Amino acid sequence: MLVSVIIPCYNESAVIAATIARLGEVLGHDAQHRGYDYELIFVDDGSGDDTLKKLKAAAAADGHIRYISFSRNFGKEAAMLAGLTYTRGDCAVIMDADLQHPPELIPEMIAGYEQGYDQVIAKRNRKGDKARSAFMARLYYRLVNHIVDVKMVDGIGDFRLLSRKAVNALLAMQEYNRFSKGLFSWIGFKEKIISYENQQRAAGETKWSFKRLLSYGIDGLISFNNKPLRICFIMGGLLVVISVIYILVTLIQILMHGIDVPGYFTTICAILIIGGVQLVSVGVLGEYIGRIYYEVKRRPHFLVSETNAQPQKSKTDGTGKMPDGKGEG
Ligand code: UDP
Ligand code: MG
Repeated sequence: MLVSVIIPCYNESAVIAATIARLGEVLGHDAQHRGYDYELIFVDDGSGDDTLKKLKAAAAADGHIRYISFSRNFGKEAAMLAGLTYTRGDCAVIMDADLQHPPELIPEMIAGYEQGYDQVIAKRNRKGDKARSAFMARLYYRLVNHIVDVKMVDGIGDFRLLSRKAVNALLAMQEYNRFSKGLFSWIGFKEKIISYENQQRAAGETKWSFKRLLSYGIDGLISFNNKPLRICFIMGGLLVVISVIYILVTLIQILMHGIDVPGYFTTICAILIIGGVQLVSVGVLGEYIGRIYYEVKRRPHFLVSETNAQPQKSKTDGTGKMPDGKGEG
């Protein structure tokens, strides 16, 4: 059995050596003990620091380590997809490079895989997180679960083990706008959840600015179905009904009492509300059209500039890699 661990890295120079050491320790021990082989696939997502240099040095020293380096920063979604495309394992674990996902959980995940689960998911609590962000997250998940069809759970992220079946299912979805949290849930299969204590980043800093989080949140809402469009439609319908009632009432009043000129307040209210609803609706429509625009371009999700790994042959993979794995794109 071969276990792959996929680690997206973006400017992780401060922590990468510690991550490699801890992974080597945990897996080296467990692999020997339980008799499996493992590989570590580091995906360098266009880091500007010396992450790649450190990865190369580590790869030269340890035959378990493979690296894939992107031509620029393509984002974590693309990095995870690259890892899944290159993985040779019977199962693959996805984890962060910053040790927020403790490597010590991997043996437990592998045990779950051996019991026949296709997805072994690590769920964190929110201990140590800022109260405000924990609250916002809870609110967001309530909202999102009302709108999207797939179920998303607070505390469940990308840290998980996937069986080959699950990996192939994810690779079969070649959509350009990937929202993994939803995709993982969408593919289904037998799932097992294991819990762990929330960890703070070991070193370096988070790449998630508020802006990035907001746009990720909108992705989650829009990526799965057309319910937001339906909501616009319903809002429009409601406004029409309210308007008709208001017009009738006003008309009757005019017929009974004549026209009274003051109407500034009602006029301005109507303009603002209708204008607002219209703009929101056009915005939602625009989001969908924007997505269609990116989908129809059919661009590759990522471009590899350097790697010591061989891409796996997959019928669904359209990213034209060269056999030596170099100079792709
Ligand atoms: N990451 C990446 N590309 C990006 C941003 C982040 O590959 O554009 C990686 C990063 O190196 C880390 C993981 O994704 O391994 C999670 O990022 P981070 O720790 O910054 O997010 P947080 O844990 O704060 O949500
Ligand atoms: Mg982190």
